[in-house]
Amino acid sequence: MNKITNHLPTAELQALDAAHHMHPFTTNAELAAKGARVITRANGVWLTDSDGNKILDGMAGLWCVNLGYGRTELADVAAAQMRELPYYNTFFQTTHVPAIALAERIAELAPGDLNHVFFAAGGSEANDTNIRLVRAYWAAQGKPSKQTIIARRNAYHGSSMGSMSLGGMSGMHAQGGIIPGVVHIDQPNWWAEGGDMTPDEFGIERARQLATAIDEIGEDNVAAFIAEPIQGAGGVIVPPDSYWPEVKRILAERDILFIADEVICGFGRTGSWFGSQTLDLAPDIMTIAKGLSSGYQPIGGSVVSDRVASGIADTEFNHGYTYSGHPVASAVALENLRILDDEGIVARVGSSTAPYLAQGWHSLGDHPLVGETKICGMMASLALTPDASTRAAYSSPGAAGMIVRERCFANGLVMRAVGERMIISPPLVITEGEIDILIARARTALDEGLAEITRQGLT
Ligand SMILES: *Cc1c(COP(=O)(O)O)cnc(C)c1O
Repeated sequence: MNKITNHLPTAELQALDAAHHMHPFTTNAELAAKGARVITRANGVWLTDSDGNKILDGMAGLWCVNLGYGRTELADVAAAQMRELPYYNTFFQTTHVPAIALAERIAELAPGDLNHVFFAAGGSEANDTNIRLVRAYWAAQGKPSKQTIIARRNAYHGSSMGSMSLGGMSGMHAQGGIIPGVVHIDQPNWWAEGGDMTPDEFGIERARQLATAIDEIGEDNVAAFIAEPIQGAGGVIVPPDSYWPEVKRILAERDILFIADEVICGFGRTGSWFGSQTLDLAPDIMTIAKGLSSGYQPIGGSVVSDRVASGIADTEFNHGYTYSGHPVASAVALENLRILDDEGIVARVGSSTAPYLAQGWHSLGDHPLVGETKICGMMASLALTPDASTRAAYSSPGAAGMIVRERCFANGLVMRAVGERMIISPPLVITEGEIDILIARARTALDEGLAEITRQGLT
């Protein structure tokens, strides 16, 4: 038996955690002094911590538990697959049934001619695949100069060296730099960066930066443009309505590939199977992970068009991961997709729960702390501001967000803060009653946050 159990007192678990476990995106000394929150079990949209508190998970883990927690069917499928074939690889002219079945199902769900899947263990790996794939594709077309990838500031595409370079997080770039051949353009965040422009004017301006960048670098040197349909970790930035149609027009006039990073938007998050469907995009490649398995197993991949797949079919692509198409992860993902479909969960998000959440979310817009409220399907954000009429930012960046996040936890709600944006992305199975609880707790947290912000004199 494992030595560590859920039955140790919280303080002991925290001490062991602090002694040996390095946390991602964390100042570990600060966390060690405070003690990490220990989550012991979960069911539906509810987490339980080691002190027995019940917390509504407004983030679906890290945007991934689309199906909600506690689905024993997925555990059963994993156990059965481990008994039958726990592991085999897909290198060296070999395959296995779970990878075959999952690739077929993804091809069926994916829009257009996105009929081919290259598997990875998560989104970062899949985006690293994409960097190598698009470059190898153009080389195979006799255009080896097409190497540069255009991405966006404040985008999140993962944390490995390649995917982090695609991402536009300055704090990540500052620690060790980025790989060559990535160029960033500005994000369509009207609230923070729109100045005096209307949202639609601003959307066009930001889209046209893509055209300018391609023209400056030279179309012959550009391999691809990568973007999340809705920026997630950057703060759920829902672009102005004018943005995507203009980007689409620009891409249609130029011969570069478009990679839609659907790691968050995929598998129902925006109310259809993929964000590319909700926003009417036509990607050549989609990055998938997270909701693919609802987080029950680590799996991701690149969904590739007929054109790109056939363009590289006669070349040996010297790339792959030990766990590409892992049989247990594939079987669990397949079962997750079956349930999302059979129980009408994706359809229900589009037709009823997302509109219901939108009503509640927009109702927070009258709170004195809140500037804009934005939502697409089951991902939403609101901007905290000292003055909504001027879209002002706080003078100490991030402090207000941290205060409100803390008040959310204190009121049994996981809501994340990205600078001054509060964001949610709940499990897709959340009910209307649970949405009411989420909104009520968010409002209480905003009230208490406002009191604390006023007390600290933040402006
Ligand atoms: C989380 C995320 C990734 C990275 O996925 P990992 O599984 O953490 O490697 C990539 N792209 C987007 C849009 C993400 O949200």
